[in-house]
Amino acid sequence: MNLNEVLEKYTPVIGLEIHAQLNTKSKAYSTDVNEFGAIPNTNVSPTSLGHPGTLPVFNGTTLQYAVRLGLACKSKITREMHFDRKNYFYADMPKGYQITQDKTPICTGGGILIKGDNGEERSIELTRIHMEEDSGKSIHDMDPFDTLIDLNRAGVPLVEIVTEPVLKSAKEAYNYLSEVRKLVRYLGICDGNMEEGSMRCDVNISIMPKGTTEFGQRVEIKNMNSIRNVAKAIEFEIIRHAGLIEKGDKIEQETRNYDAGTNSTIGMRLKEDAHDYRYFPEPDLTKLVVTDDYIEQIKASMPPLPNDLFKKYVNELKLSEYDAYNLTDDKGIALYFEELITNTNNYKSAANWMMGSIKSYLNQNALTIEDFPIKAIKIAELIKIIDNGDINNSIATQKLFPLLIENPDLSPLKIAKENNWITQNDSNELESIILAIFKANPEEADRFKNGDKKLTGFFMGKIMKETKGAADPKTTAQLINKVINNI
Ligand code: ADP
Ligand code: MG
Repeated sequence: MNLNEVLEKYTPVIGLEIHAQLNTKSKAYSTDVNEFGAIPNTNVSPTSLGHPGTLPVFNGTTLQYAVRLGLACKSKITREMHFDRKNYFYADMPKGYQITQDKTPICTGGGILIKGDNGEERSIELTRIHMEEDSGKSIHDMDPFDTLIDLNRAGVPLVEIVTEPVLKSAKEAYNYLSEVRKLVRYLGICDGNMEEGSMRCDVNISIMPKGTTEFGQRVEIKNMNSIRNVAKAIEFEIIRHAGLIEKGDKIEQETRNYDAGTNSTIGMRLKEDAHDYRYFPEPDLTKLVVTDDYIEQIKASMPPLPNDLFKKYVNELKLSEYDAYNLTDDKGIALYFEELITNTNNYKSAANWMMGSIKSYLNQNALTIEDFPIKAIKIAELIKIIDNGDINNSIATQKLFPLLIENPDLSPLKIAKENNWITQNDSNELESIILAIFKANPEEADRFKNGDKKLTGFFMGKIMKETKGAADPKTTAQLINKVINNI
C-alpha cells in the first residue's frame, strides 16, 4: 500500500521527545566549559568523568532556561523538585548514571502552537519538560577498528520536551519540530542546530484503524538529527506498520534507527530487553525550590515570542499571514523588523523591504541579518523619501540600496541628491526633455503620433535614460501624450 492508501484506512498517532542542549557557559553540574566543536576530551574535569569523590554543583542557568521555556509553553512550573539518577552502563557515560528528573519534572502540561493539517492553528499538548545532562559522544566513523569517545558533551545541560501522543502526520511532526526550534532560538536557550546535534528527536509512532480510538503498538525511532528525516521516517513507518497489520503480523515494541541512505528504519533492540534504570533520588544534590519572585523575574526578562509577533503583525499591522510568517521565522529578521517599525509607519513597505531587497542581499551573500550593514533607521529613511515622492521605487531598490550597503553611514536623501536621482516631476523641464527626444527620433515619433502605442516603452526608456531613471513614471506618461499631441 502506498501512503495515501494507508491513510484511507488508518490513523497515525505520533508523540515526540526532543532533547535540546542548553547553551549555558558551563555544564549542568560542573564548571567545565560547554562548547560545541572543542578539541575532544578537553572540557573534562574529574566531575564530568565521574571520578569517585567528586560532587555535582547545579548550574542555575539550566533552571532559568527551563523555566523560560515552560513559561513560553504555558506549562505548569513545578515549585519543589529534586533530581533523580537514571542508572545504566555505557562507554560514553563514565559516571554510570545520568542525572535527570523522573518524578518531578520542572514543567508539566502546556503546549506549542502549530499549523495543523487543515491549515488551522492547533496546540500540541506537552506531557512534560525536564532537565537532565547529556552523555558523551561515541564516534563510530573516524577509526576503522575502534569506537572513539569524546566526553566534552558529558554533563552538558539538556531539556527534554515530551509531547502527548497527539500528532497526526509527518507534516504535523515537521511543523511541530520547526516551531520548537524557532521557539528555543527566540528564547536564546539553544541554538537549535540539529545537524550539530544540539537538538535531537525521538519519534514514537503507531497506527490504528480509522474511526477507532485504541492506540496501536508503538515503536520508537531514536536520535533523529534532521527535521526532514523525521518526516520521512514517519512516512516510512506508517507504511511499514500497515503492511504488517494487513498481513496479520504483530508489530514489535522496539527501538529503531533511521537510515537516511536507504530512507528506511532498521530494528535496533526490542523494548523487552530495555534497561531497568533503577531510578532513585540523586543524593548529591539538594532539592530545588522555585519561588514566585523567581518566576516573576524570568517573566519580566522574557524576549518577544514568535507567535506573539506573528499575531501582532497580522492583527495590528494588518500584514498578511504570509508576510507575518516570513518576518517571524527567524529571530534576527523579526528583531530588525521590530526596530524598523519603530521608525516608520509604512508597515507594508517595511515588510516588502525586509522580504525583498534585504533578504535577497543576505541570500546572495550568504549572510545573516546580524551581518547586514544598513541600520534599520536608514531603511526607514529610505521608505520615507520614497513615500514623500523624492525618489521612485526602482531607483531606491536598484541604485540607492546597493550604494547604501557600501556606505551605510550616509544619508539616503543625500546620496539621491548627489547622484541626481531626485524624482523629476518638474513638468517644464520634463516636457523639454521629452520634446528633445521626439525630435531626435522623428521616425518613431511619427509612428507614435499615428497611434503606434507599442512605442510608449521605447520613449519611456529614452526618457529614463536621459534622467538617469529619476523621471516620475506617472508624470512622464501623462506628459508624453501631451507633448506628442502638440507637435
Ligand atoms: P518512554 O519513556 O518509554 O519512551 P513515554 O511514556 O515517556 O515512554 O512516551 C514517550 C512518547 O511516546 C511520548 O511522546 C508519548 O506521547 C508517545 N506515545 C505513547 N504511546 C504512544 C502510541 N501508542 N503511539 C505513538 N506515540 C505514543
Ligand atoms: Mg522514549
